[in-house]
Amino acid sequence: MFKRVLIANRGEVALRIIQACRKLKIETVAIYAKVEENSRFVQAADFTYCVGPNTAQSSYLNREGILMAALLSGADAIHPGYGFLAEDALFAEMCAECDLTFIGPKPAMIRLMADKAAAKNYAKTQGVPIIPGASAITSANQLKQAAQAVGYPVMLKASLGGGGKGMRVIYNEAHLQQKYHLIQEEAQQTFLNDAIYLEKYLTVARHIEVQILKDHVGNLQIVGDRECSLQLNHQKVVEESSATILQPQQRQQLYDLAKRLLAKLDYCGLGTLEFLFANQQFYFLEMNTRLQVEHGVTELTSGIDLVTTQIKLAAGQTVRPGILPFSGHAIEVRLNAQADAKQHLLATGKLTQFCFSATERIDTGYQKNDIIQPYYDALLAKLIVSATTREQAIAKMQQTLKHTHVTGVGTNLATLSQILNSPAYNANQIDIHFLEQMEGAVQ
Ligand code: ADP
Repeated sequence: MFKRVLIANRGEVALRIIQACRKLKIETVAIYAKVEENSRFVQAADFTYCVGPNTAQSSYLNREGILMAALLSGADAIHPGYGFLAEDALFAEMCAECDLTFIGPKPAMIRLMADKAAAKNYAKTQGVPIIPGASAITSANQLKQAAQAVGYPVMLKASLGGGGKGMRVIYNEAHLQQKYHLIQEEAQQTFLNDAIYLEKYLTVARHIEVQILKDHVGNLQIVGDRECSLQLNHQKVVEESSATILQPQQRQQLYDLAKRLLAKLDYCGLGTLEFLFANQQFYFLEMNTRLQVEHGVTELTSGIDLVTTQIKLAAGQTVRPGILPFSGHAIEVRLNAQADAKQHLLATGKLTQFCFSATERIDTGYQKNDIIQPYYDALLAKLIVSATTREQAIAKMQQTLKHTHVTGVGTNLATLSQILNSPAYNANQIDIHFLEQMEGAVQ
């Protein structure tokens, strides 16, 4: 087992990794941006190194600075958390060159899955259905033909996109002509690569994903599924485990697809396979080769500590192959700092009140009087509950939200309560467009 792990991340996930390391009796090293020097995760780590002033680019994305801190601190492994460098194949390669274990799959696997067009093409070769579309588009004419072939509306996506960014819905040919170059430019600016691909835009679908663990000898363990259809701006807001919409044979079909996709891959670590579920069919969307934000709901229904298991896999331990049983139902809501309900701008300022009296599990990197900075993401806290049934879990979450009090910084608390109280959500009649429609209705 590792002796000392450096955490190349911040906030709640850094704290979550520190907690897992403590369980495994591993020492922790936090890296941080100067502006976060008094944060909870910095206080909780055994060793700390400041790697930059404030922006993500100068700190949590500062590959050289982070590696220097790892070497100086005597760490033997790096946990990247999620976001930042978690799916950066170059960083994983640089870790290996410095004799540091990157807690994640091999760089080649990260590279394959980070290119969503390449990942889909791979899935297709393995007989895993993908949404109809086209990749390797090099001209407006080619794009026009591809759109005609699948029929409007279509979606244009940056091949290296992520985090809900770099995708646009296109409704007709004129719109396509107008947006093509703009989308390419945006992809180049944001993801440093202008490759885009096109796929049919699904107007009714659910986002369902599978949590997997795979070890270095090839054992594959499936640790349940999650329903993540409630999204705004293509970013998840509410997540559940399991996806109760699935009938046993549909779940089996989903797990078979996951197995098929992974069977020939030299993949070792934890990962998530994301699918869209439409017309009773699963379509592979992408694979995330890292810990997911929403891993907590799976932990509550499976009883597995995903972070300690991930660390153990990186240290060479194995898992028992098969499908793990799950019980009960868990729900997570993402409490975000939000300045403007309509535009979903990040709110900044001081948390003058930050309390959660009835929450079963709360994953947060913040405490009262912390300043929410403009440099990072909007996540303030993940509120997670579990119960025997979905109905009971919803009731628990409604109570949790009632007892959540945040002042000083705008939040999406009212939207979360509205979701949890809506008849359609309670009846599980939701899809990936539900929240946009709900927000549209109140504006
Ligand atoms: P990212 O990597 O940025 O999260 P994904 O490809 O995983 O992007 O898609 C994020 C979300 O965007 C999906 O969960 C879904 O709600 C929506 N989406 C993606 N592709 C489509 C599509 N073809 N049709 C409709 N919605 C889509």
